[in-house]
Amino acid sequence: HPRTFQRVGSSKWRRGITHYRPLRQVNLEGSAEKDSEYGDALSFSSAQLAVKDNIAAKGFPTTCASNILAGTEIPFEATIVTQLKRRGVEVTEKAGMDEFGMGTHSTTSAWGHIHNAFPLQDYSAGGSSGGSAVAVAEGKADLALGTDTGGSVRMPAAYTGTAGFKPSYGMLSRWGVVPYANSLDTVGLLAKTVGPIRKAIVDEKLYSEHDPNDPTSLSASVRERCTAQRQFYKSAGRPSLRGLTFGVPIEYNIEELDQRIREGWVLAAQRIREMGGRVVPISLPSTKNALSAYYVIAPAEASSNLAKYDGIRYGRRDKEGPSDALDGILYAKTRGDGFGTEVKRRILLGSYTLSSEAMDNYFIQAQKVRQLVRREFDRVFKLSNPLQDEEAFDLSEMDETVQLESKLGPVQVDFLLCPTAPTPPPLLEDVMKQTPLDSYMNDVFTVPASLAGLPAISIPMDIPSDLTKEEERLLNFGGLQLIGQYWDDARLLAVAEEVS
Ligand code: GLN
Repeated sequence: HPRTFQRVGSSKWRRGITHYRPLRQVNLEGSAEKDSEYGDALSFSSAQLAVKDNIAAKGFPTTCASNILAGTEIPFEATIVTQLKRRGVEVTEKAGMDEFGMGTHSTTSAWGHIHNAFPLQDYSAGGSSGGSAVAVAEGKADLALGTDTGGSVRMPAAYTGTAGFKPSYGMLSRWGVVPYANSLDTVGLLAKTVGPIRKAIVDEKLYSEHDPNDPTSLSASVRERCTAQRQFYKSAGRPSLRGLTFGVPIEYNIEELDQRIREGWVLAAQRIREMGGRVVPISLPSTKNALSAYYVIAPAEASSNLAKYDGIRYGRRDKEGPSDALDGILYAKTRGDGFGTEVKRRILLGSYTLSSEAMDNYFIQAQKVRQLVRREFDRVFKLSNPLQDEEAFDLSEMDETVQLESKLGPVQVDFLLCPTAPTPPPLLEDVMKQTPLDSYMNDVFTVPASLAGLPAISIPMDIPSDLTKEEERLLNFGGLQLIGQYWDDARLLAVAEEVS
């Protein structure tokens, strides 16, 4: 390979540990694994699967890229891994990530930074599922599992020029996935193109499988009801964009948007029009508060989730500490040494916003914003949200004057079209100079769909460029994001494949 992008003096960005080899086979006899629960073994070729390091896979450690879980092997397997294995998929590697999924550039891992795929290794791979994205970008895996709480599958897809899909909340089981923020966590899929993802979700019917082990997995009856209201779960046909309306949220055209991304967005809209789709501006006014709400809710849930890693119940106990003392020293040393800076920051943030003095001003307000974000989405989509009270949000029921007076306008859309990230991947060197707030800002386009539990996908964006040099062209990775109404995943995937 030409090493065009090997920067002089870049050795400080040693290649991060992105993959683990199996340590030893874990004996699962007598575990909760049942053959009948997840359907027949279907032939899903012999695809190679990379699994994010916060998802339990037989024979591999699961460390969440954290010192506190170094060497941990979970004695059972995540449902999603079992489901894919039943379909003939082989787990070939564990993929690195930001510690406990907290980050945007895969630089908070205790095992070193993850680098973008060759030849862009000096650039951010995105996070937190950076290792999963690099594995598919480099062709080491056909399919990768990631988790997306606020953009962690979509962001790395955008930065590595791959496809990353976050399904509707509750579609894929999270049993065996280490929780970060339960009300937002989803398992997502990455691949070089949309095809293998659509195959796994739709053709292989992952969408249809309820997991009794995961209380947030949609029940079989609700699943059926939702599926009956949606297209493209049964037929694998190609969609026509004719008759489809794509909304461009005007609030997403922020000042910080890189000009190349803005132009790529416009180009995508033009392409969709040429393919027969309609592209209209729409307004999602609560977007500007979504990011703040996310960064209150996610750390709050994380602080509660991470309380169990104290060296007694879970987590690697500090060897130096007095093992029989519960006076706080053992906890403090274990947690002090075990967690990295970003994780500690989130725990402190979350503990504060959940404290009695701050609760009303932060946590409760954030929940209200979340509700507004959800309602706005429900009002712009043509389809109603099968989990909500349909009448409350059905604009078509209102008379026209009310529709016109609505701040959101009467236009209703099938999908939203926007960038995944405000910029192409930054240099790792520059990422390290950023404040935590700078990197939180990167999530501005991905968190709204997470707060509302909606399906969203990032596909590579064509970025117009007058740069002619090959290496500069390669730097133009940007992500185009399509967001759909709840449980419209099958149609979203079909349309994303068409638009790609
Ligand atoms: N960057 C976001 C965060 O740090 C999203 C992470 C995620 O989706 N796991 O919380």
